[in-house]
Amino acid sequence: MAGVLVFAEVNDGKLRKASREALSIGRKLAQASGGELAAFATDRAVAEEAGRYGAKKLYVAEAGPYRTETHAAALQQAMDQAKPSIVLFGGTSNGRDLAPRLAARLNAGVASDVDRLDWADGKLRARRPVYSGKVFATVDVTSNPAFATTRPNAFPLEEAGGGAAEVVSVAVPQIEAKGKLLETKTPEAGEISIAEADIIVSGGRGLKEAANFSLIRDLAHAIGGAVGASRATVDAGWIDHQHQVGQTGRVVSPNLYIAAGISGAIQHLAGMSSSKHIVAINKDPEAPIFRVADLGVVGDLFQIVPALTEEVKKAKTH
Ligand SMILES: Cc1cc2nc3c(=O)[nH]c(=O)nc-3n(C[C@H](O)[C@H](O)[C@H](O)COP(=O)(O)OP(=O)(O)OC[C@H]3O[C@@H](n4cnc5c(N)ncnc54)[C@H](O)[C@@H]3O)c2cc1C
Repeated sequence: MAGVLVFAEVNDGKLRKASREALSIGRKLAQASGGELAAFATDRAVAEEAGRYGAKKLYVAEAGPYRTETHAAALQQAMDQAKPSIVLFGGTSNGRDLAPRLAARLNAGVASDVDRLDWADGKLRARRPVYSGKVFATVDVTSNPAFATTRPNAFPLEEAGGGAAEVVSVAVPQIEAKGKLLETKTPEAGEISIAEADIIVSGGRGLKEAANFSLIRDLAHAIGGAVGASRATVDAGWIDHQHQVGQTGRVVSPNLYIAAGISGAIQHLAGMSSSKHIVAINKDPEAPIFRVADLGVVGDLFQIVPALTEEVKKAKTH
């Protein structure tokens, strides 16, 4: 019997979207393999939510804020109890940190950043975009347990309608952690992380200077999206690295990606070309971004972006 255990991250007493996505696909894998879905969290408050996504049990270790070593040790204890054949992590920074660490410790295989998962021939079969999304690799993870991190927004959210998951307490192992948590930075109120956003509005060097990112922020706030950026703007110090989309930033797959003043260098495309709908605003009709855009607007972003923001605001008041 192949049980599935999902590392369920909690933010403000709720499951993160990436974790709910991992639970949604986890439930299907559990069904296909004839096993049970369970979750691991550091907060019992999510027992009901985890149950709604099909988790029968919630292993809880009150381990406090995320730290690699304590969370890895606690999750390993939960695994000792749950004995899962598959362990899934949403592809957040923490999930991508924890999965390879535990997999290495257990000599298990891990498929990272997967956008498709199946139970095939008694094994976990995963599809991973490689070479900056140009091709897909299908891999079988033959170890037991098998690990995978899921690409945010690649798996649809599907509630199962179950009751609250049964809470099983897991002792927090007393370990002498080499790492120390010095500071936690929280995004500004109302700011959405690009990792899990459904809509991203991104700005590039076409903005000319840092202050003009306010145009991007205004549109993002109006439309309910996150603020993204090209590396050129991050390198110029106009915006923080956590907003960078691309090969050396975040790989994102939102429903809607709006790129303004971004040329569409291959390293940028590597991070956003799997977006469901792409809108590009660029004054150069030859800009490579138009090759991946579903809707291209050739023009000056300083006119188009504020006009778009106004239209969105108007549409919302009607
Ligand atoms: C190893 C490596 C890794 C990299 N990783 C990343 C990464 O993760 N993410 C990333 O983004 N880049 C990455 N890069 C950098 C990448 O190659 C490009 O340099 C970068 O993406 C360019 O950013 P940009 O499009 O903002 O700037 P530019 O290429 O300078 O493009 C600016 C665009 O703005 C347009 N524009 C100018 N004015 C206006 C206006 N008024 N209205 C409308 N449009 C206007 C121009 O026509 C132009 O197309 C990486 C490079 C390397 C070598």
